Order: sequence, then structure tokens, then C-alpha cells
Amino acid sequence: MKEKDLNKACRSLVENICKYSNIDKNDSNIKETPDRIYRMYKDELLIGYKRNPKDYIKLFDKKYNDKSIISIENIEVKSLCAHHLLPFFGEAKIELEYNENAKVLGLSKFYRIVDTFSRRLQLQENLTSEIANFLYDNLDIKWIKVELVATHTCVGLRGVNNTNNKTKTNVVIGEYNENN
Ligand SMILES: [Zn+2]
Repeated sequence: MKEKDLNKACRSLVENICKYSNIDKNDSNIKETPDRIYRMYKDELLIGYKRNPKDYIKLFDKKYNDKSIISIENIEVKSLCAHHLLPFFGEAKIELEYNENAKVLGLSKFYRIVDTFSRRLQLQENLTSEIANFLYDNLDIKWIKVELVATHTCVGLRGVNNTNNKTKTNVVIGEYNENN
């Protein structure tokens, strides 16, 4: 979709909601809402479609060749549910073991990669797999475990209305065993 079309769609959504609800679309609080929504989708909530996660594969030499397991916690996840266009958010944890002599990914790049896949229309299950698969395919690693814990506003604000909801997803790829 072209940006022009997205802009039009946001305007039409707001105007039609106003019409449906008998609200003045020129109200001072609503007048610029279509543009705000447009910019929000384009520059923030859907920005992941404009980014290529491969751009964040910046690798560094590691001096020692000992068994090297890395665990990164509290990676913020902010995403948009593909079923309802409502946000879900939480935290990811990534654990992986590099192969001997592997180059290592710069730490900040894990955050960038998670954010890139998150800023798209997602299901939490797919998001977890996409992060795990991408890192497994692009890093020299034995195994990877990605865990994601998120609260879904589409579960909290509508349907079952369970505000305090929490969903945990796990994806493991490679030769992982619990004793690592
Ligand atoms: Zn949903």
C-alpha cells in the first residue's frame, strides 16, 4: 500500500466513525486525528515493514573459544495484533550458544531485531518464531531459545475482557538440552 492510500484510509476511518457516532469531525480534538493516526502507523507501529533485519547483523570477533552462552532479558516488545489491530506488549528473553570460533552479534542489535519484527502486524506465536528463526539462520550458533511474555489489549479491552492477561511463548531451535 502506498503512503498516500494509508493516509486516505486513516481519514476515511475517522470520518466514518464520526458519522456513525454522530460526532463532529471538525471538533478541535478530532480534526487532526486522521493525520496523527496516519503518522503513528507509518512511522511507529508499522515501521518494521520498512526495516530489513539483516541490516542489523553486525558481527564481532570473540577472543576466547570457550563454551559461550548468552542470555539477554527484558527486551521490550511492542507490537500490533494482526487480528484486531490492537497493541500487545511485553518482554522477550533470548538465550543462545555460539559455536566455537563464531563471531558474535553486537548486543544492541538483538534489541533492534526484536523491534523490527515486532513493529508489524503480528501474532505472538509467529513473532517468537520469526525472531528465533532469523537469529538461527544468521548467526553461527548451536541453539537458540526465545521466550516472549506479553499482555494483549485485544484480550483485555474486548471479548473475554481479561485485563490482567499474560501469554508466554517459547521457541527452541537447534541442539538445545535443558542442562545447558
Ligand atoms: Zn488480537
